[in-house]
Amino acid sequence: MLLRRCAWHPRYFGYPLIGGITSWAGWSLKFTDGICPECATRFRAEYRAFIGRREPERETPRRVA
Ligand SMILES: [Zn+2]
Repeated sequence: MLLRRCAWHPRYFGYPLIGGITSWAGWSLKFTDGICPECATRFRAEYRAFIGRREPERETPRRVA
């Protein structure tokens, strides 16, 4: 049995998330680490902020003063 687990949940929410069963194949219990939609949203927001801090000129649209 293969269980989908969110590898980012402990970091963003403080508790682990088991997302669901990916595969019933086999009798042994295994985990696959991924990212759930909630964490993906947070990750993208953080990533955008990170890029924005590093390259403000490229990421900011031209402003008309
Ligand atoms: Zn998550």
